[in-house]
Amino acid sequence: MTDPAYDYDLFVIGAGSGGVRASRIAAGYGARVAVAEEYRVGGTCVIRGCVPKKLLVYGSHFAEELQDAANYGWTVEKMTFDWPTLRDAVAKDVDRLNAAYTNTLNSNKVEHFLDRATITGPNSVRLASGREITAKHILVAVGAWPVMPEFEGSEHCITSNEVFHLESLPRRVVIAGAGYIALEFAGIFNALGSHVTVVNRSETILRSYDASLRDRLLQITMARGIEYKFNCGIERVEQHEEGCLMVHMKGQPDPLPADAVLVATGRRPKTDGLGLENAGIELGAHGEIVVDELGQTTCPSIFAVGDVTNRVQLTPVAIREGHAFADRVFGGKDTRVSYDCIPSAVFSQPPLASVGLTEAQAREKLGSNVKIFTSDFRPMKNIFGHRPERGLYKLVVDAQTDKVLGVHLIGPEAPEVLQAAAIAVKAGLTKADFDATVALHPSMAEELVLMR
Ligand code: NDP
Repeated sequence: MTDPAYDYDLFVIGAGSGGVRASRIAAGYGARVAVAEEYRVGGTCVIRGCVPKKLLVYGSHFAEELQDAANYGWTVEKMTFDWPTLRDAVAKDVDRLNAAYTNTLNSNKVEHFLDRATITGPNSVRLASGREITAKHILVAVGAWPVMPEFEGSEHCITSNEVFHLESLPRRVVIAGAGYIALEFAGIFNALGSHVTVVNRSETILRSYDASLRDRLLQITMARGIEYKFNCGIERVEQHEEGCLMVHMKGQPDPLPADAVLVATGRRPKTDGLGLENAGIELGAHGEIVVDELGQTTCPSIFAVGDVTNRVQLTPVAIREGHAFADRVFGGKDTRVSYDCIPSAVFSQPPLASVGLTEAQAREKLGSNVKIFTSDFRPMKNIFGHRPERGLYKLVVDAQTDKVLGVHLIGPEAPEVLQAAAIAVKAGLTKADFDATVALHPSMAEELVLMR
């Protein structure tokens, strides 16, 4: 496999989820692998995404749990929250993971350069330090980057890259967008006591999710004090004395005062300045690298995985794509990624989780041959905590075959419940299979097998 004509068999650009997995697996097959990373090993998920976000979600949950504590007989003398303590603890865990990912590369004999790499041809890259390197294959796994729309004063706003480093907890937060990042951070800041306003260009939150779940999330989060301004966008942001920001919105007479403005209006493939044109690599309309189903770009020696291809912007998908690439190119195995039934979750408060077809998608595909089963319940935890919030579980079933086509959940721990249900949907199980399963009591998950 090793070709002495090149410095390496594989050169990977980007040491995130997809790049690290591909490097490690390829090296395991005996390939000589090097990876270049311009910032920190671990990528978006580990350094400034899923992991630190989830820790902030855990941190913010204590607000509710400490309130509930009295009902369980605990006396909490004085409840205070210190943002720098949480922020720094999260940063420390990110350091730990950064080191763990670096160790993974070292222990798999993957050489790594903490440097920016640019493609100079089908089999060559140049590091920012000036070093020229050749490789038989190149894998681009550079991920995506938050989009900052152009408006006056956008330099006063932050994205999900900066939100983990805020000096203090903002008292008032304005969040632009109503997708994953917007609603996850709306939940975190709301729970931590900030006043949150979500500003979105349409009146639809979390567009790809089932409408019933979206409605439920909207109702609950509004009752929790999050304000929504729909069908409007940020026009300009002014900085006033002592750091106060004034957010002017289209169609809204009064500006909103804020201590932080978080822009979460999508992420764009990070292809700028990569030198892709030097290898004739075609880009799509959103700046994404166009790949075939095997991840091959329009340059046969160059492949791409993960968010930079803008197929499914989820860590586990990038990992699978990186693994499949290494299996195919270096392991002689025809591993493919199945894009069917990918489960996903939004760690909003409450969280929601979903797999398969939504009710609307199923009706579009099957017309009237769709059966819907729902359970609208008040979780035991909420009853005891005197919270009126209700969970909602929905099964979308093919009326002809009885197959469960989609599972959609909102409520405490919904993502934990969904993962097991995703196995059933992926395996093509029927509603009768769900019904034949004995409930696990008392749990929220038991609702999945009790819908009649
Ligand atoms: P999303 O695509 O989830 O949401 C973007 C939001 O911004 C939508 O509300 C959209 O409105 C709005 N929007 C899009 N373009 C514009 C624009 N030009 N001007 C104003 N508003 C705009 O993006 P995120 O940034 O929240 O997240 C990016 C991706 O990261 C997600 O798609 C997801 O794949 C991944 N992610 C996954 C997480 C998870 O798995 N839990 C967590 C965080 C991120 P509209 O819908 O009306 O078009």
